[in-house]
Amino acid sequence: MDFKEYRQRGKEMVDYIADYLENIRERRVFPDVSPGYMRQLLPESAPIEGEPWPKIFSDVERIVMPGITHWQSPHMHAYFPALNSMPSLLGDMLADAINCLGFTWASSPACTELEIIVMNWLGKMIGLPDAFLHLSSQSQGGGVLQTTASEATLVCLLAGRTRAIQRFHERHPGYQDAEINARLVAYCSDQAHSSVEKAALIGLVRMRYIEADDDLAMRGKLLREAIEDDIKQGLVPFWVCATLGTTGSCSFDNLEEIGIVCAEHHLWLHVDAAYAGSAFICPEFRTWLRGIERADSIAFNPSKWLMVHFDATALWVRDSTAVHRTFNVEPLYLQHENSGVAVDFMHWQIPLSRRFRALKVWFVLRSYGIKGLQRHIREGVRLAQKFEALVLADHRFELPAKRHLGLVVFRIRGDNEITEKLLKRLNHRGNLHCIPSSLKGQYVIRFTITSTHTTLDDIVKDWMEIRQVASTVLEEMNITISNRVYLKETKEKNEAFGSSLLLSNSPLSPKVVNGSFAAIFDADEFLAKTYAGVRIAHQESPSMRRRVRGILMSGKQFSLDSHMDVVVQTTLDAGNGATRTSTTNSYGHTTSAAQANSERQASIQEDNEESPEGMKPRN
Ligand SMILES: *Cc1c(COP(=O)(O)O)cnc(C)c1O
Repeated sequence: MDFKEYRQRGKEMVDYIADYLENIRERRVFPDVSPGYMRQLLPESAPIEGEPWPKIFSDVERIVMPGITHWQSPHMHAYFPALNSMPSLLGDMLADAINCLGFTWASSPACTELEIIVMNWLGKMIGLPDAFLHLSSQSQGGGVLQTTASEATLVCLLAGRTRAIQRFHERHPGYQDAEINARLVAYCSDQAHSSVEKAALIGLVRMRYIEADDDLAMRGKLLREAIEDDIKQGLVPFWVCATLGTTGSCSFDNLEEIGIVCAEHHLWLHVDAAYAGSAFICPEFRTWLRGIERADSIAFNPSKWLMVHFDATALWVRDSTAVHRTFNVEPLYLQHENSGVAVDFMHWQIPLSRRFRALKVWFVLRSYGIKGLQRHIREGVRLAQKFEALVLADHRFELPAKRHLGLVVFRIRGDNEITEKLLKRLNHRGNLHCIPSSLKGQYVIRFTITSTHTTLDDIVKDWMEIRQVASTVLEEMNITISNRVYLKETKEKNEAFGSSLLLSNSPLSPKVVNGSFAAIFDADEFLAKTYAGVRIAHQESPSMRRRVRGILMSGKQFSLDSHMDVVVQTTLDAGNGATRTSTTNSYGHTTSAAQANSERQASIQEDNEESPEGMKPRN
């Protein structure tokens, strides 16, 4: 391929990519192939003679795409997100063309310098203390881009090990490194990612798993007990990994408590925030970072949720000399005039060579700005809240762990077997893709909001699919799940609900209709949106005006159907699920006008009879 053809094929490729991403909703998210499918489609050996590009490229749709799990699809809810974005793709296109290997400053100065700058930007964006940033050439702390969170964890475990061995030598001379290594113990919660266990396997150190509490968080008390126990046994505790946003349920270890314990016992505290770290760019999610000032290192993956495509893990350390001491080798061929003065990232990682990853990060940060990225994170959380509300409204399902950020875990009430069967069936159908996790013995389905293309309509479609398959599974297994919910229970759950909402939330009430359902699921935000698109007929009668005033002043929320008779007509286009008004049909229900009308009548009656407190002004 010469430059002339490259220009043409490159432009065609960009078009292909844009078409792929733009129309990804139409592809089946999970492939329908069996292991070895590709062998039958391709020859056993490489071609002897080169082939023309069109022939090669036509095989992408024929051979590769049928075996792809489409991670950018709005119906992809497995794992955690691995998002891309156009500025990120363009960044790597350029970085790949330059293809410099930035292991030392001199091997490509811009590669190191841009990385230092974007790591400072990112660190400030998530609110890290200055001690983690490269603020001057004297800074001990600093950030570096690693390939993966797994690698970042290993680097920090090895750095912690170097520090612990050195400390042990100072206090007890005469031991071999290997003898000390054999006594080292690391700690993490029983919810930590498998890569933490892997790091301990590679480092040949023991790993103790601390039982998480009922909120699936590691707490200081049990950690301290385990450490004191191990010291009594003659072991040397040296390293703790706290997880912010676990893979199983996005739970958060108590960083504040853990930090205090680590400081008391001189342990390296590493924070694995692979997924949740991106959310810390929004100040409202930073409460989980409380206590970060006692950590030694923290890593998160912009390659998960921040629209920088794989690979990019941001790692910050407070004391980079501990990392240097671990990885320092200086062969003559890697020395340069500025060795020791400039940062050489080869001392901060396991491999020598490194890609120019900072370029795509820089493009993304500049294209979206902090505000744009915050908007993206908040939208993911909002959609997860919506999905959570949909699950909550179906009595057959339960949420065994609290939803945090963009991850909802749910299951069908009853034996694990039922949920397992549901998930298998869903993945087999291929319309959406989820994976399971096990939380204290309970089999759950993880539903993560991933794609930047996901809309409320997509979420609702996915939920319809889940409900429908659940019905079939339950029917096949001959299981019925009781739907008795007592008004008292519902009332205790939410003090802000007026009785029309309480009643409509009870499946025993005959008037569970779309409107009330939506009111629960969207709370304030939806109501506000809804009323932006409708005209309230205040003028109709004095009694109506009184009622509206009563509703507004009661401080409680009422079902939408209890409002139906006071609203007139939607002014918004029903084509967009996010701004639909009366919610009719946005869940795929088809409520006829007559039906809606009779429900309205029923709700008026009920409001008058049963919820007088909401209808009267209250001062
Ligand atoms: C995704 C994830 C990892 C692994 O990330 P890699 O970059 O693939 O190594 C580790 N820890 C947590 C909490 C994760 O969510």
